[in-house]
Amino acid sequence: MLSLLSRSPTFTLLSSLAKRHSLQTTAFTRTLVSFFSSTTATTMSINLEAHAFAGNPIRPKNPKSTDSLSPALALETLKSQLLDDTQNLSSVIFKVLPFRKGRPLASTTISDDGGNDSAPNWHLGWISLADWKGLLANSGVELTGDRLVYLGSRTEGNVVYWAIDVSAEGSLVSDLGSKQFSFVELRTLMVATDWADDGAMGDLAIAGHARALLEWHGLSRFCGHCGEKTVPAEAGRRKQCSNEVCKKRIYPRIDPVVIMLVIDRENDRVLLGRQSRFVPRMWSCLAGFIEPGESLEEAVRRETWEETGIEVGEVVYHSSQPWPVGPSSMPCQLMVGFFAYAKSLEINVDKQELEDAQWHSREAVLKAFSFAEYKKAQKTAAAKVEQMCKGVEKGQSLSADYNVESGELAPMFFPGPFAIAHHLISTWVHQSSTIGLGVQPKQPSTSLSNL
Ligand SMILES: [Zn+2]
Repeated sequence: MLSLLSRSPTFTLLSSLAKRHSLQTTAFTRTLVSFFSSTTATTMSINLEAHAFAGNPIRPKNPKSTDSLSPALALETLKSQLLDDTQNLSSVIFKVLPFRKGRPLASTTISDDGGNDSAPNWHLGWISLADWKGLLANSGVELTGDRLVYLGSRTEGNVVYWAIDVSAEGSLVSDLGSKQFSFVELRTLMVATDWADDGAMGDLAIAGHARALLEWHGLSRFCGHCGEKTVPAEAGRRKQCSNEVCKKRIYPRIDPVVIMLVIDRENDRVLLGRQSRFVPRMWSCLAGFIEPGESLEEAVRRETWEETGIEVGEVVYHSSQPWPVGPSSMPCQLMVGFFAYAKSLEINVDKQELEDAQWHSREAVLKAFSFAEYKKAQKTAAAKVEQMCKGVEKGQSLSADYNVESGELAPMFFPGPFAIAHHLISTWVHQSSTIGLGVQPKQPSTSLSNL
């Protein structure tokens, strides 16, 4: 193992999920760990406070309904400002984030961290309410409060944040493009986000929440009960049927998905699968939607059995991740991650569901991590976002964003640190193989990633 590890960069990972979620499982022990190999020259640090798309900084808690930053009172103030330009007596500042076809507005700046490691950083394209009103007026559109969806607030600075879908206002693209803004796919921003940068991770979480809400608004325009139109309520945080007799309340949709790393304890290996849509040589955890009337554990066992023919016994919770970058028919999935311990070992792949599934040894998984260059892939994507904001690159193709391989080709690689699958696999490969339900790790400090 050492000879393989000597190829690896040094990993330093810090997870505070246990503190944030007050969960106590073997996978959640908070650790700060350094893993040193004898001949490494480079250092790779991954400091994750929370999974990508979690840890949204503008919604740690909802303001009380009497607070001027609360959804109801903020919407009242916003509507009065929209009606009368001169009436701006409130100290509350409104910032608006536009989306076009599910893509948030973004811009980039070059940051210099003091070393030679200058790289473009993307950030969200917030626009003030007054500027936004003007931009829409230029397009002949009147801005109304019902179009804006409340995202959250910051007491510091007295700011309330809103999102708006401007997919119908095509002329805005060139108006904003001239100011070096661009509507960028959320998946591209996800790959481009520097996971060590709290501000960037916060922006990604805000964009994910906003996209999920706006996509849900687009999917819930009519009442499923009586068929009448729905209207926004609580500043867009829910909807309500406009039929006075019906008045059905409708809440944002979340689609839970179990994602599991199936472990063969006896032979010290894990089951990984490939979907046909994956880029070549990428392998990941098994996953599947939870069915009505099913527990999470039952879903883990059923999905594993259906996709691979493997029987699962013990199921141990790891962590969860909002995933607002799935198909547009599902505004936000919630990935619920588990370790699942195999009771049988013979694989029988359902080719309708998976292209392939195979057992992979700890050595093979370690080797794949040592060859992957996630930081390089992140920087490549960040440079691409910068080009898009400058108007140089129009394309939104993603395949190149996932290229994490170094010059020497490894037989496989895994999704980057933006995905819970990465952390499930990383946690297992750097932990003692004896860890299981109710069994405390003999040496907790050997765990590199508890995310
Ligand atoms: Zn109705």
